[in-house]
Amino acid sequence: MSSAISFKQVSKTFPPDIHALKSIDLKVAEGEFLVVVGPSGCGKSTLLRLIAGLENQTHGSIDIFGKDSDQLAPQERDLGMVFQNYALFPHLSVFDNMAYGLQVRRESAPEIRKKVEGIAQKLEILEFLRRKPNQLSGGQRQRVALGRLLARDPKIHLFDEPLGNLDPQFRAGMRSELARLHQERPRTTIYVTHDQAEAMTLGQRICVLRKGEVLQVGTPEEIYDLPAHRFVAEFFGSPGVNCIDGKIEKKEGIPSEFRSGSIQFPLPNHDMPTGSITLGIRPENWTLSAPENGAIHWGD
Ligand code: ADP
Ligand code: MG
Repeated sequence: MSSAISFKQVSKTFPPDIHALKSIDLKVAEGEFLVVVGPSGCGKSTLLRLIAGLENQTHGSIDIFGKDSDQLAPQERDLGMVFQNYALFPHLSVFDNMAYGLQVRRESAPEIRKKVEGIAQKLEILEFLRRKPNQLSGGQRQRVALGRLLARDPKIHLFDEPLGNLDPQFRAGMRSELARLHQERPRTTIYVTHDQAEAMTLGQRICVLRKGEVLQVGTPEEIYDLPAHRFVAEFFGSPGVNCIDGKIEKKEGIPSEFRSGSIQFPLPNHDMPTGSITLGIRPENWTLSAPENGAIHWGD
């Protein structure tokens, strides 16, 4: 598949010496839903702002649909962004907020009405089209912001923690709606969140960012089952992974035994390093047993 967005050794430094992004290499395929996840301050918003052209990188290059982004003004990039704080026009009705991008493009009034009403119906905000944003709840406003993006339907959809202000139960509903919409119309999407559960449920692939560096990019299964970094292992999963510090020792010349204090057990004879190591075990992978009494099953 061809790349919609390609970062080549991209760094962003804010004066005097805040290294917000450090030599990022990242490709986003056309039509892919990529979630960028990491703790607050790790550079997620900066990454989106570079794609949108709201900031310029300090080093490296970003290609958008095969064109060097340095040659593309923000308005030439055919993308839309949804933020946590909606950024709706307060003086315009919901309809006019959603129609704005289409009016700018000089689409005909009947065409605009058809598109806006179609999207509003999907998002269940049809009955609010005449209202002003301040007459809506947070969740409804966020639907309008999403609707505005979908009505314009740019090639690239950027989301910066768009569900952060919503109630947890409403957030779950919006998540499944976003996933469904993407299935219906697979636009290239980069979705930023600090929430590991959101990343796991929404991402076709996940990019884990920490302190401006990409630690791992992979499917949710790869990230969860084969974390490339201890931070990645500990960031995902609730309850979290159990980590036991210990050593791998040789048995009959083959490194195959894990030891930590009084714990000692065999490991498969793969190519193991010897020496100090941390063993990670997901909580759901333990089996409990009463002494002599077989397995205790729990949590079915
Ligand atoms: P995130 O969205 O993951 O919370 P940001 O991309 O907003 O992280 O910020 C990454 C780092 O860059 C942080 O240390 C932040 O303080 C810094 N930063 C972001 N924007 C600016 C700016 N305009 N000027 C100076 N520092 C900034
Ligand atoms: Mg941010």
